[in-house]
Amino acid sequence: MRSGKTRSPRPGADLNVRGLARTGRFRRHWHVLLLFDADDTLWENNVYFERVIARFMQRLNHSQLSVAEVRARLNAIEHEHIVRFGYGVHSFARALCAAYSTLAEAPPDAAALEDVHILALTIAHEPIELLPAVVETLAALQPRHRMALVTKGDLAEQTSKLERSGLAPHFERVFVLPEKTAAAYRETVLALTGDPATTWMIGNSPRSDINPALAAGLRAVLVRHPDTWILEHEALAPAPAGHLIEVESFAALQKLF
Ligand SMILES: [Mg+2]
Repeated sequence: MRSGKTRSPRPGADLNVRGLARTGRFRRHWHVLLLFDADDTLWENNVYFERVIARFMQRLNHSQLSVAEVRARLNAIEHEHIVRFGYGVHSFARALCAAYSTLAEAPPDAAALEDVHILALTIAHEPIELLPAVVETLAALQPRHRMALVTKGDLAEQTSKLERSGLAPHFERVFVLPEKTAAAYRETVLALTGDPATTWMIGNSPRSDINPALAAGLRAVLVRHPDTWILEHEALAPAPAGHLIEVESFAALQKLF
């Protein structure tokens, strides 16, 4: 779902929403709390999984099922594994092996499954590729607002990525949640002694960053990423005027906040 109605503010206009009226370019607004998603908001992530899946498809080379059919089966198996084992590369590797066992036209031997497992784990060794304008935008926003990172997934993996990104000093707290639900957002804002009405969740995923944040009474900014994971797609929930803003680039946050 990438075709939601655009709700961008007028270019250059000072925002008039509650809690965000600007009175000075560099005035600190400590009552405003900015929560940032990480994967595919601050740095590339899904593209590595997609590359591995493309190689998996080649390896499977199914004579009967189309690529779309194999992908649908893989998505279902991945979802089952997320429910059982959570997010992250190791859960994905298990899912990919399970998909290979299920879908291969000849029963795979242990060596073939080990190859699939190793293929999936290559994701863990990818370098951190920061998305455009992330460094300068976080640096510009940090003096003005409180900022925290709210990601989901495997604690060790997400912590390692944050360390390697060099972005950790921008955030006063880091939350690695098992799932981004409305309740989890409420607890996060409470832990930060923030006010939901002046807290903004910023991310690329309608399912994880936008809809549950809005349900928790937060405001949200959708920063589109052209390669958002299919399991993160979801229709945007209706939001009261001023509660949801869509921007086309991370750099646009500098004008919003
Ligand atoms: Mg994300």
